[in-house]
Amino acid sequence: MQSAPNIVRTYLGVPIARPNVAFFELSSCEGCQLQIVNNESTLLDFLSLVNVVAFREAMTEKADNYDIAFVEGSVTRSDEIERLAAIRKNAKVLVAFGSCACFGGVNQLKNRFSDPAWVKQQVYGDHPIETNDAARPIRDFVTVDLMIYGCPVKKEEVEKIVTNLVIGKSVVHPKYPVCMECKANENTCLFDLGEPCLGPITRGGCDSWCPNNRFGCWGCRGPAEDANVEQMKAIMKERGFSEETMLDRLECFGGFAQHADALRKIVLR
Ligand code: SF4
Ligand code: SF4
Ligand code: SF4
Repeated sequence: MQSAPNIVRTYLGVPIARPNVAFFELSSCEGCQLQIVNNESTLLDFLSLVNVVAFREAMTEKADNYDIAFVEGSVTRSDEIERLAAIRKNAKVLVAFGSCACFGGVNQLKNRFSDPAWVKQQVYGDHPIETNDAARPIRDFVTVDLMIYGCPVKKEEVEKIVTNLVIGKSVVHPKYPVCMECKANENTCLFDLGEPCLGPITRGGCDSWCPNNRFGCWGCRGPAEDANVEQMKAIMKERGFSEETMLDRLECFGGFAQHADALRKIVLR
């Protein structure tokens, strides 16, 4: 165990403790962790705020004396439930890191198939893994203190959130939808270019990452506060997009699971 917390000073000379942080992955593509490693321009600043004690993707050393645990990925196997419980026991703050951890993410797409054995056969063929259950968000198993949304997470947002955690400032997620940021970025609306977009109902904070690159939002950050999904459906219909198109987007990351389940019943009837 570390004997005393490291201290850093803000530019005004105020001392703040550097927390020990650890990164873990369950069932995931590790793309969210990669966002941190890839962030070369600001990586040193980020590292000056925290002590990284475990991060399999980036270092060999590992320790379990962490204050903040970032958990990426969804739970799809029984051994992950045990691992997650152990992480929860050690961490003062447990962060669901990315859409897989927050909502099940793209992994939960397999949950929509009624025959899990068929899915297993399609994916693993003659080399099935021992257990492969439905993909579920980590909050189904442990208490989650904070969610960081996105597939992948946005590195600038992660740095802002970690800074707030370190200096003891509350973390407030945007309540407004992606459209707000898209308009501020002066993008041409994708609907006007004949493409669908879930920006009106999806939580902002990604700085309209996809529409900035002429790609409609798929809702990876889950619903904005008071998201009007019925109105979104009406807009999609009015613009000539099918219910299947709407369903594809709603069910992609798991954040709109409730709405996707309701729409699926209509589409499949
Ligand atoms: S949220 Fe997306 S980028 Fe992050 S681990 Fe899951 S699939 Fe990968
Ligand atoms: S492109 Fe999407 S996010 Fe941007 S204004 Fe249009 S609907 Fe909103
Ligand atoms: S625009 Fe939508 S899909 Fe793209 S990163 Fe933002 S929330 Fe996710």
